[in-house]
Amino acid sequence: MPPKKLENQAWPTTPPLWQSPRVPDTRIVHAADDEMKEAVAAACDLLRAGEIVALPTETVYGLAADAFNPEAVAKIFAAKERPSFDPLIVHIARRGDLQRVAIVPTEIEETVNQLASAFWPGPLTIILPKHPDVPDLVTSGLPTVAVRQSAHPIFRAIGKELNSPLAAPSANRFGRISPTSASAVLKELDGRIPLIVDAGACSQGLESTIVSIEPRDGKKPILHLHRAGPITKEELQKYGKVEKVRAISESHPQATGQLASHYAPLTPLILLEKPSDFQPEPGKRYGLLSYKGEDDGPYVTLHDWECIESLSPGSGKLAEAALRLFFTMRLLDEAGLDAIVAEPVSETGLGVAIMDRLRRASTR
Ligand code: AMP
Ligand code: MG
Repeated sequence: MPPKKLENQAWPTTPPLWQSPRVPDTRIVHAADDEMKEAVAAACDLLRAGEIVALPTETVYGLAADAFNPEAVAKIFAAKERPSFDPLIVHIARRGDLQRVAIVPTEIEETVNQLASAFWPGPLTIILPKHPDVPDLVTSGLPTVAVRQSAHPIFRAIGKELNSPLAAPSANRFGRISPTSASAVLKELDGRIPLIVDAGACSQGLESTIVSIEPRDGKKPILHLHRAGPITKEELQKYGKVEKVRAISESHPQATGQLASHYAPLTPLILLEKPSDFQPEPGKRYGLLSYKGEDDGPYVTLHDWECIESLSPGSGKLAEAALRLFFTMRLLDEAGLDAIVAEPVSETGLGVAIMDRLRRASTR
């Protein structure tokens, strides 16, 4: 029997803006061109009043609060059920706002400027010594703060209008799949937050790359890679020696997003490094998260899959796979399977970040 394919293989993958469901508690405002002003005003009114709002960024949807308002920031942790030891990223609307949230040591100033010029606004987060004005809750008591400048026009417009940095982690419940559309945010946080600003699908689909900078005498600095993401190791290498920070354990007080288990669907996910590793249990329903979904591929032909979802149907482009990763994981999670079997992608460029997310999703 040929495997059943789930609908919605098309890309981009967001439902049309006007189809977002409306609920009594969580309001959705659309941020299409002619509605952008109203959406920005609605978000800023709530943020000024100390509320939290889900906003689009180019990576994934974020759950934002005024970073200088600890009561508002506390609501982020509550809505996400996020442990207080997991620090938030602070988003600045203008590069000049960096001094409001961080103190840049002279030894790394040049590298910070180079990285900001190369990748901001964009999906790079830099960890720096924290400014005392940033509440401890934002950084989970760490002396450092993670800072980024989003390139998303709506997110930027809201940050500028508010004129305050925004603390904004991904708009999902803790440990779950990051949302790449307003409807995914609604599934995660319906009834827990007052507003979602819907600007369609995110253009990157994976959380930002996170680095910290260690200066070295007479040499390029070390760039510690805390999280792989859309800005690749290859792109960062020009500015320093890139070294991966190893995942740390659940009990570690600075565990952060480096927890081994993260980004996980509710359905168990098996990352199958090679087809011959597959040991299906009789009577269980398995779905395949394929890379290209080719009919004669070694993973597609391995089993009578209940359904197959492809990250980059036919073409095998890593950028498309990154963009569709969380969306396809969600579709399979909702398909009533006993397990999702994921095929690996090549671990180069963006493939590093995709494999990082698949490994964490498969760890229980
Ligand atoms: P999220 O926005 O949900 O993707 O999570 C933000 C992630 O940024 C955290 O889980 C940490 O991995 C990382 N992060 C934030 N602040 C710091 C910091 N001061 N030091 C190290 N990592 C951080
Ligand atoms: Mg997150």
